[in-house]
Amino acid sequence: MEIFWLCEDCLQTVAYDDFSALSLYYSEAEVEQRITHMRTQLQDLLPLSADFDPHTGAGFEAFSTRPCEGCQSSLHGARHRFTRL
Ligand SMILES: [Zn+2]
Repeated sequence: MEIFWLCEDCLQTVAYDDFSALSLYYSEAEVEQRITHMRTQLQDLLPLSADFDPHTGAGFEAFSTRPCEGCQSSLHGARHRFTRL
């Protein structure tokens, strides 16, 4: 089973198709570019299933230094575990 660790942005994209958080960090042009990039990258990984439990902390890293496997972002931060269906 293939496992992927995705950043907060990718989690929002996969789970809710929600990009509203992005606009807090980027200009409008950059947001457009990042959304396109993320959609393209994530498309290759679909279908994905969330494999983390917010209650036990399983499959969740609050501060990871590994690059996001969805958008390749190397920004440090939260990573959530997903598996390919
Ligand atoms: Zn990502």
